[in-house]
Amino acid sequence: MELQWDPWDWQDYEIAQQPSWRSQDELEAVRRELRLRAPLVFPREIDALRRSLARAAQGQAFVLQAGDCAESFHDHSAAAIRAKLRVILQMAVVLTYSSGVSVVKIGRIAGQYAKPRSSDTEVHHGLEIPVFRGHIVHDDDPTLEARQPDPQRMLTAYDLSRATVATIKALTEGGFSDLSRAHSWNQDFVASSPEGERYEAIAAEIERALRFMAACGIDLSHEEVLHQITLWTSHEALLLGYEAALTRRDPSSQRFYDLSAHQVWIGDRTREPKGAHVRFVSGIANPVGVKVGPTMTSDELLAVCGELDPDRTPGRLMLVARMGHDTVRSALPDLVRAVQSAGHPVVWLCDPMHGNTFVSEAGYKTRDFEDIMDEITGFFEVHRRLGTWPGGIHIELTGEDVTECLGGGEGVLETELSRAYDTICDPRLNARQSLDLAYRVAELLIR
Ligand code: PEP
Ligand code: MN
Repeated sequence: MELQWDPWDWQDYEIAQQPSWRSQDELEAVRRELRLRAPLVFPREIDALRRSLARAAQGQAFVLQAGDCAESFHDHSAAAIRAKLRVILQMAVVLTYSSGVSVVKIGRIAGQYAKPRSSDTEVHHGLEIPVFRGHIVHDDDPTLEARQPDPQRMLTAYDLSRATVATIKALTEGGFSDLSRAHSWNQDFVASSPEGERYEAIAAEIERALRFMAACGIDLSHEEVLHQITLWTSHEALLLGYEAALTRRDPSSQRFYDLSAHQVWIGDRTREPKGAHVRFVSGIANPVGVKVGPTMTSDELLAVCGELDPDRTPGRLMLVARMGHDTVRSALPDLVRAVQSAGHPVVWLCDPMHGNTFVSEAGYKTRDFEDIMDEITGFFEVHRRLGTWPGGIHIELTGEDVTECLGGGEGVLETELSRAYDTICDPRLNARQSLDLAYRVAELLIR
């Protein structure tokens, strides 16, 4: 008999990627405090997201999951959140039109503060210091003092997540997410930029579709349409003490929900089938994502699916392939087939970011827009060939005009990376590159 799950029993399992906290007592005190805090999201909302994802699992919806690699404690202004929401909505309009199905929008937002890393330390000016693990753990300054893990930061992460949820709510309920408004922003992009010109035809078709709907008497600013436009929250479930402290049993269903976000995922470095992270998410009712990297075998993947989706529930499991553009076409098909044969109704997402990272000559961690597009193209090819649904994309982006990824319509060059390289972790697409990507994906979907 399986042992009954409880939110803290992951502590009996092998755990990877945890900080060395300075004091166990302090850590416990912070966990006790978090257990008293109000939920950030609610079971009813999580259930609604699961229903939307079930549609994606059946080929009737497309998922756009996007946001920062790591959110920053130093930049959580309403303006920054608004800019991210804006670009996600702009992308969603284009993807809705081109996929012909509704787009489920999930932010890497309101809690994306913890980072897994490939090595424990890094060398800065000849000094070996702990590697940056996200603002929920310590500051990003490359000094020994700043990199001391501080459990109190989990409380700050909670507070900032809560403020971010409130800002998203205010923006989406305040009409910011109106469909025709997002379309008119896109028209500005198309009209004002050389890279946008290429997409004039798609923009014109969307314009006609909107006019058609208006002519039929569909009021696009109508409340009901607005309410459908929701940005769900998500982050990597890495610090399991934080997640467990915000996990509560829903009195009506008696099920446990991780109320720190609507959706959480497990990274490529913590997906061990018998490890603590898989154990923790196996017991929560939230939709759960698992990153699937190039070293994942079909057997491992099936073991993870068995732990996380024993009942084969549509909308429960999202598999996020992050293979690298030169590997996706060879590595993905077997995995997709295996999962399909085992009968797990998963949503397959393409993360074209994490398998395509390299260091530029000047030392900037970056990604090339064409590699990103090539991985998405390969992902679509594989699903087309197998007759399975390419369920969505998982992107690292920001609403700001940063220069972190190379290429895109405006062609960010290696020599330009230093101009606005602002990320505290991985390189993100800027707003124009993100829109560029949405239109390029639209071309793939329409073809
Ligand atoms: C991430 O999504 O930021 C990440 C670290 O991904 P992965 O676990 O796939 O490397
Ligand atoms: Mn990342």
